[in-house]
Amino acid sequence: MRVAIAGGGLAGLSCAKYLVDQGHTPIVLERASVLGGLVAAWKDEDGDWVETGLHAFFGAYPNMLQLLKELDIEDRLQWKKHALIFNQPEKPGVLSRFDVPDLPSPINVIISILRNNDMLTWEQKIRFAIGLLPAIVRGQEYVEDMDRYSLLEWLEKQGIDDRVNSDIFIAASKALTFINPDEVSATIPLTALNRFLQERYGSKIAFLDGAPPERLCQPIVDYVTERGGEVLVNAPLKKIVLNEDGSVNHFLMKGSTESEEYTITADAYVSAMSVDAMKLMMPDEWKAQPYFQQLQELEGVPVISIQLWFDRKLSDVDHLLFSRSPLLSVYADMSNACREYSDPDKSMLELVLAPAEDWISRSEEDIIEATLAELAKLFPDEIPDQAKLLKARVVKTPRSVYKAIPGRQQFRPVQTTPISNFFLSGSYTMQRYLGSMEGAVLSGKLTAQAINSAKALSSSNNASVTSKPVSQSIPNAATA
Ligand SMILES: Cc1cc2nc3c(=O)[nH]c(=O)nc-3n(C[C@H](O)[C@H](O)[C@H](O)COP(=O)(O)OP(=O)(O)OC[C@H]3O[C@@H](n4cnc5c(N)ncnc54)[C@H](O)[C@@H]3O)c2cc1C
Repeated sequence: MRVAIAGGGLAGLSCAKYLVDQGHTPIVLERASVLGGLVAAWKDEDGDWVETGLHAFFGAYPNMLQLLKELDIEDRLQWKKHALIFNQPEKPGVLSRFDVPDLPSPINVIISILRNNDMLTWEQKIRFAIGLLPAIVRGQEYVEDMDRYSLLEWLEKQGIDDRVNSDIFIAASKALTFINPDEVSATIPLTALNRFLQERYGSKIAFLDGAPPERLCQPIVDYVTERGGEVLVNAPLKKIVLNEDGSVNHFLMKGSTESEEYTITADAYVSAMSVDAMKLMMPDEWKAQPYFQQLQELEGVPVISIQLWFDRKLSDVDHLLFSRSPLLSVYADMSNACREYSDPDKSMLELVLAPAEDWISRSEEDIIEATLAELAKLFPDEIPDQAKLLKARVVKTPRSVYKAIPGRQQFRPVQTTPISNFFLSGSYTMQRYLGSMEGAVLSGKLTAQAINSAKALSSSNNASVTSKPVSQSIPNAATA
């Protein structure tokens, strides 16, 4: 079966990978000149990679790890020591570590919490543990039910000390969803915590050994194209054109000039675009259907990524750090943490600025200045007096992953739509992980399964599924 997929982020690429595994022929159509979507990166004029965002992989990413194994590139993940590391605003420059011993879960995580005395008192730890009990005992069902509350409301409801929020959950919430605990749904951090408590290596962190388009997306492209699929960049979907019965007739694509356009026809069609792009592209005829209406309740959250190159080493920490700064979320010195960016003499910090609502329209100069002021608290011996900033790059993403505020779980759509030959994919669609790389990969796999099942069903019903050729005239798109 020919399947046209609009969107070459991780969801679209994963969908294509699992479709070729099932003997289908996908064509991925990516609007941008580079693949990856939210994991995209490109080289600046000096040949340095600029990334859309710092991306951490977790041990609790079974679908991502399985994909890397199937592509035979598992060795591209650089696993860090099993620990979570926080800055301490009250002690500038001093780190607080939760070192997780190599013991079965959940005892390993519990020991790491009990051993850390920098951040919580014993009484706070005990009240936190009691508050968490329903999530541990009743599992994911309870966690999903807590989508009614913001994290802050849930912490209050469970009688968990404010210090647990300020010490741990502000940092966790900003890292997971780019918003604060008063906004984020309690389901999100509880889902992550549950995985960390249930899987021995769930909270273990890795970075990719280089830029995602080359080190992660390209192997998927090679896999797909070697098996008869196609992956195109510079191929923006312009319109989803319908048959009279509301099913998709073809994708109308934008050519290289305003007036130029071409069509892509296939047996099945997938949107692996972000929810915001899908809402814009939605045909009027579908808008009244409850399935499509629920998308109106989801929207992307702003986030800003900052990369700073310094003339000297700021630290030798080879790990992800939770800044616990009001402005910043997580960061890493990629000159220590990533093989391709490694430099024995100079630091390259990659940082996430979140929540970014108030910053997304500010100038790059303002953002860099504010970031350096925060870094002066994290590296008081080096900034501002010793280390010289050589270069800075700022990437703003006004609509990134869906904003995980309370009540959103019910609006996340399943991959099968009411339209017989149209499917959705993307980390915002319903799957058991958050808006994450793992969620994107899993959603792509689920979409491929849904398409395969629909094909099997139509074959067994003797419905005629005629294989339509993909249009050969693609004026400006380039093979990835
Ligand atoms: C700063 C930042 C940090 C992050 N950190 C982490 C992390 O540490 N760990 C983690 O697991 N996740 C992280 N994430 C989240 C993760 O990147 C995303 O959840 C995931 O990559 C989403 O993949 P996707 O394929 O669902 O969507 P997207 O990546 O948004 O892909 C959608 C694609 O559709 C394309 N598209 C849109 N419109 C059209 C059109 N008209 N025609 C054709 N194509 C179109 C877009 O160009 C894009 O390539 C982070 C995200 C950001 C922004």
